[in-house]
Amino acid sequence: MSETTLVKGASLYGDRTADLLLRDGVIAEIGSISTPDGARIVDADGLIALPGLVDLHTHLREPGREDAETILTGSRAAAVGGYTAVLAMANTSPVTDTAEAAERVHDLGRAAGLVDVHPVGAVTGGLGGEELAELGLMHRSRARVSVFSDDGRCVADARVMRRALEYVKAFGGVVSQHAQDPSLAGPTSCCHEGELSGRLGLPGWPGIAEEVVVARDVMLARHTGSRVHVAHASTAGTVEVLRWAKSLGIEVTAEVTPHHLLLTTDLLAGYDPTYKVNPPLRPQEDVDALRAALADGTIDAVATDHAPHARHDKEHAFVDAAFGMLGLETALPVVASVMVSSGLMTWAEVARVMSSTPAAIAGLGSQGRPLEVGQPANLVLVDPAATLVVDRERSVSLSRNNPWHGRTLGASVVATFLRGRPTVLGGELTEP
Ligand SMILES: [Zn+2]
Repeated sequence: MSETTLVKGASLYGDRTADLLLRDGVIAEIGSISTPDGARIVDADGLIALPGLVDLHTHLREPGREDAETILTGSRAAAVGGYTAVLAMANTSPVTDTAEAAERVHDLGRAAGLVDVHPVGAVTGGLGGEELAELGLMHRSRARVSVFSDDGRCVADARVMRRALEYVKAFGGVVSQHAQDPSLAGPTSCCHEGELSGRLGLPGWPGIAEEVVVARDVMLARHTGSRVHVAHASTAGTVEVLRWAKSLGIEVTAEVTPHHLLLTTDLLAGYDPTYKVNPPLRPQEDVDALRAALADGTIDAVATDHAPHARHDKEHAFVDAAFGMLGLETALPVVASVMVSSGLMTWAEVARVMSSTPAAIAGLGSQGRPLEVGQPANLVLVDPAATLVVDRERSVSLSRNNPWHGRTLGASVVATFLRGRPTVLGGELTEP
């Protein structure tokens, strides 16, 4: 039986107001629409409609760490955050480095049914950095893997990176790099290297460890004619390299996380492991450069790097705690607070960096589509006037490592639709 929903009076991209009729999984009509028999009515007065969000960088922890997150609980967090598709990173246990492993993640995502879960394939077997994983087999599997990453680790060997870029070029894939030269960033590094890390006595990562790998990789992308994607760009120097590479027409894209757009390294003064993340929080000059780069298109996308951790992995002395923060449920409110309220971006531009561009980078044909008749009914309704005091205990994630706890953020996700079916209504999941 087909399901029909009439979304009444939404502001499309924060611009013109119209009704949207969602039927048989597509946007069937846009305009002033009278209610069809049996249709669900969603009052969207004062709400902004955007295409469903697409996250290029999510850690779902299944298989291996189902105490921190599962594909189901991560899918719930994604839906609550307004996402209709996520790319699940490969650094699970076992690693997603075979067609079989990729298909398992894909199938579990389908079974959860709340967002499209696309596995990211490892670049190298076991994230070992040496031998290429089954890139072609993963792409030809029913998971249709197109994005490859050893995220969590840098593909440090230039020869391996070159081979990976050559390999994925054959089928239009992309390598997403966690750029961090291990010879410049030691194994015990745990925060930004600077005046504060010296004072706190914590071993730091210099920004240059990221920038030299980004510079190398864009040259390799130029040489191979292939596509490289910079995961979680975090420094002003990286922005400079990206701007230069794009001016030459090199096929490079980049993402920035919500936390690198708002939080700074000063937060580490209290040694709170909640703020321990890789790449680390940087100084305000870097944050300002990242915001400007996102606004002017030098950085293409916002990606969460949602990294759930069980309490017993985070509640340690700073140097021993796990790296990472939650991100899926709060990404849109953070971007609204940092980029829209400040006037740096419009809502249409938010749709570009959080939906259409990430979908294009990942090669997802049915996600990130414009709100037009005949397009898949993947969309999110946002209340731009809402203020949200983040309470980590209200999360639907299994984990609680939320850096926004207690902060007030602007805008909230009211509803999410996946192929016309509501996954979230009134800010709550439609099923428990
Ligand atoms: Zn990473």
